[in-house]
Amino acid sequence: MNLRYASIVDYDSDAYPGKTSTVIYLAGCPLNCPYCPTPELIKADAFDEKAAAYFLYHLDSVKHATDAVVIRGGEPLVQGNALIEFCRGVKKKGFSIKLETAGFYPESLNDLLPFLDFVSMAIKAPLRKEVYAASCNFRGDPELLLSNALRSLTFLEKRGQGVFKEFVIPVSAGLNDSPEAIGEIAEYVASFADRLVLERVGEVPEEKMQELLIYAKRSVKDSIEG
Ligand code: SF4
Repeated sequence: MNLRYASIVDYDSDAYPGKTSTVIYLAGCPLNCPYCPTPELIKADAFDEKAAAYFLYHLDSVKHATDAVVIRGGEPLVQGNALIEFCRGVKKKGFSIKLETAGFYPESLNDLLPFLDFVSMAIKAPLRKEVYAASCNFRGDPELLLSNALRSLTFLEKRGQGVFKEFVIPVSAGLNDSPEAIGEIAEYVASFADRLVLERVGEVPEEKMQELLIYAKRSVKDSIEG
């Protein structure tokens, strides 16, 4: 089975807290967020495919100085069973695995959970369909988008024991930069989040970020600006 990928970065010390990792950027994403840091990865067709075994061989060449593999995109879960095959092989080699996702493929997330040590899921806006769809410029069915995000959260809550669960709110002016919006999201994940990250992606003043952080911490004690 093949993975469609854009690049590999070895010996990264930031992507997985406390570990040195190889970061694999996979191509393709069904969303279209206005602040996307990797818009070139949204359309998968421009990228090559390689067998999962190719990446596993690559890991053998760096394992002397690598503890973890970080899988990011695009939306990595677009890759379905190929990603499961890859993660199974990665775990056999003894690496920790962190997945970064927007939660659009709940079943794939559920299937992958047994192999994961760390999940970082983006929550784009308060969990209401019109607001959520607008926040990521989604052109499909808003109901589907929201229900996928909610089911992903449910899988993390119910089946994510032993997995570090981080939720990232991309804070963007006019989209979700109100105390009410941040408070609502934080409250939703409060019972199962290990960490909440407020990531400034637009023109939001630092004082405003600090104010929003106070609201986040009311529900999730380990809330940070990332
Ligand atoms: S979900 Fe992530 S990769 Fe996809 S468009 Fe949004 S920010 Fe970009």
